[in-house]
Amino acid sequence: MNRAFYIGRFQPYHLGHHAVIKKIVKEVDEIVVGIGSAQQSHTVSDPFTAGERVMMVSRSLEELGIIYYVIPIADVDRHAIWVSHVRSLTPPFNIVYSNNPLVIDLFSETNIQTKRSPLFQRGIYSGTEIRRRMLADEAWEDLVPKAVAEVIKEIDGVRRLKDLSRTDVPSSATVF
Ligand code: NAD
Repeated sequence: MNRAFYIGRFQPYHLGHHAVIKKIVKEVDEIVVGIGSAQQSHTVSDPFTAGERVMMVSRSLEELGIIYYVIPIADVDRHAIWVSHVRSLTPPFNIVYSNNPLVIDLFSETNIQTKRSPLFQRGIYSGTEIRRRMLADEAWEDLVPKAVAEVIKEIDGVRRLKDLSRTDVPSSATVF
């Protein structure tokens, strides 16, 4: 039995992430997906809550016909204990897929098998690019699974991002 772990911030979950997971599930029996930086939401770079990201990932994975677990994981302020923190929250896993150098380093140091996941069209399948398009009223729906576009519409996510982009830049006349 091989159970994989894959973590991302998924702000939002997009077709690059989905392509990686489709590849992983061909190699393992089950997958644990960590929703990283779970404590973050309502900022321009992290607009969606952990719960909203759980919906995005869970609904997208339904089509893959594999057993999966989607677990929110808040950050901790010491990298040295992060792997233990992750393991305390997740079902046990024996292989980690990632392209994030810090994630790979931290797991490698604890002797868990790690595999570099491939990148798919990083230039456009990127949370930064998707959020930019949302703010610029450009088409973004074709960069995410259909289920993610539906969740973002349900929660009025583009309006939230636009509101945040306005409040993130306080005018000189605003005194808090
Ligand atoms: P992310 O959503 O940017 O990316 C997730 C994964 O998808 C990465 O491996 C990334 O390389 C990959 N990816 C992105 N675009 C892709 C594409 N087009 N094609 C294929 N793959 C693509 O998230 P992230 O920042 O890598 O997530 C790591 C999480 O782990 C963060 O939330 C971070 O805070 C957390 N973390 C926390 C600690 C701590 O709390 N001390 C330590 C390490 C990591």
